[in-house]
Amino acid sequence: MFDYDEELPAGFQDADFLQRQYEEESRTFAARLGRAHGALDAGDDARAWSLCPHGGGYGLGGTAATDAGDPAAGLYGPDGFRCQDCGAVLDGFPGEVVPIPPEHIIEVGRPS
Ligand SMILES: [Zn+2]
Repeated sequence: MFDYDEELPAGFQDADFLQRQYEEESRTFAARLGRAHGALDAGDDARAWSLCPHGGGYGLGGTAATDAGDPAAGLYGPDGFRCQDCGAVLDGFPGEVVPIPPEHIIEVGRPS
């Protein structure tokens, strides 16, 4: 995938630069997620939804949402998405946070 390039400075190779990029992205993601969880702990769902990097969840238009008993299942179109990190509803994945009524808010657990 990557060839050794003797012209690169200090012996660093493309893979080293990519590794540095991935580590930086990971730290940024973790920091945003930590701030989002802090906002959830403080009871500020809207702030959590704006801070969260929305790393994963499930579509609200499919069986995952109904199997999970999600109160928003099937109500936000075929692309509607529930972030399991913060509980936000998005208009797709990736997507933008959609305003939801209180009855569509769910509790989300922290990863162990
Ligand atoms: Zn999220």
